Amino acid sequence: MALPIIEPFRIKSVEPIRLTTREQRKELLEQAGLNVFQLHADDVLLDFLTDSGTGAMSARQWAAIMEGDESYAGSKSFFRLEAVVRELTGYQTIIPTHQGRAAERILFEVATKPGDIVPSNTHFDTTRANLEYDQVEALDLVIPEGLEPRTRHPFKGNIDLGRVEALLKDRGARVPFGMITITNNSGGGQPVSLENIRAYSALLKRFGKPLIIDACRFAENAMFVKMREPGQAEKSARDIAREIFRSADGCTMSAKKDGMVNIGGFLALNDEGWVEAAKNLLILTEGFPTYGGLAGRDLEALAVGLEEVTDEAYLRYRLRTAEYLGEKLRAAGVGIVEPTGGHAVYLDAKDFLPHLKPEDYPAWALSAALYVEGGIRGAEIGSVMFGKRLPDGTETYHPMELVRLAFPRRVYTQSHFDYAAEIICDLKRKAREVHGVRFVKQARWLRHFTAQMRWA
Ligand SMILES: *Cc1c(COP(=O)(O)O)cnc(C)c1O
Repeated sequence: MALPIIEPFRIKSVEPIRLTTREQRKELLEQAGLNVFQLHADDVLLDFLTDSGTGAMSARQWAAIMEGDESYAGSKSFFRLEAVVRELTGYQTIIPTHQGRAAERILFEVATKPGDIVPSNTHFDTTRANLEYDQVEALDLVIPEGLEPRTRHPFKGNIDLGRVEALLKDRGARVPFGMITITNNSGGGQPVSLENIRAYSALLKRFGKPLIIDACRFAENAMFVKMREPGQAEKSARDIAREIFRSADGCTMSAKKDGMVNIGGFLALNDEGWVEAAKNLLILTEGFPTYGGLAGRDLEALAVGLEEVTDEAYLRYRLRTAEYLGEKLRAAGVGIVEPTGGHAVYLDAKDFLPHLKPEDYPAWALSAALYVEGGIRGAEIGSVMFGKRLPDGTETYHPMELVRLAFPRRVYTQSHFDYAAEIICDLKRKAREVHGVRFVKQARWLRHFTAQMRWA
């Protein structure tokens, strides 16, 4: 008999969530211009907007907070974190930053020049934006399966090595280094195999280029490798993570994900030339190299988080959460991105609301309806986020209309996910009642954060 996978923790401190009525939520959403980013978090029951910085810390992490050494220079908390990151990654130098994007900005400023090209499986939005800000081309070369929502493949985050090789042969002089995002966040939290990372690194090495890992969800990725990749089942998730890092030359990290903390990040590198320039830039914009914009207590909590995150009971439960919700939705005929990734479930809004047209913004409409029906907050990943209003007043649309339900770490229990599944399946039965939405007001950049909408 296969026992259910349970939350591998018990709860020591609780935070109430507020129950609201459907009528209240309808009114609150109207006041927010049908934009869930504009809601007060207090009015949300299950907050699946993001898994970034929203996790629960453990008793050990809270205890470590009290050990934080707030010395300006040479804090012992820094040396603790440095030891943990060195053990995990093998990289010589660790540069703490306030979050992942600061690590990206510093790396790109010291290691790229205008006209360069940096390939990856899929660059995350902040990574792409920071490269483009430096006039560097951010090139996404994920395997074709990674772009097909319904195609099942164990490692949909893999990079297409044939296209990388062609790039290096044709325009190699313009490539300063390669990157790979694990798991592939923008592609649905899909993992990359150890074999793919090794082959990518070897290919780059043949052309004299280093590999930098965007490591935000390295532990989830390592667990997928253990569970899915032939020959890896006997290794521990931590050993697999250690091998992944040792196949590359450095990493950028948002500790708000698999660092298991609410704020923080780092850049870890071997190259001494880059390190020196990065440290100088860090002092200019983030802080002294032994704290990098974080408090000593943040460094302590992160050091513990990086130890805890590779616990296999935790990772098994973590990956099972998305799979569990996915199974329930699929059984009810709800279209989702398959297979489920590590940190989120993505609803296919075109499939959910087939009566809506692109100009009805189906994923936005679905995110609004989910809040009204059940107090659930997800994020639209569709034409409001990626479409544009052109100067002549016409609109461009995104090919995919998804609602991402991203799961905070160690925060919600199975009954919360049972509730979410019920609400979504119930909404699916009355999907025809969901109207499209229209813009009332939109900003020129990143319009999804502030858009004001009305029901069509
Ligand atoms: C969150 C994230 C980042 C950026 O990190 P922040 O801490 O939000 O600045 C970069 N890459 C990936 C894959 C991410 O998920």
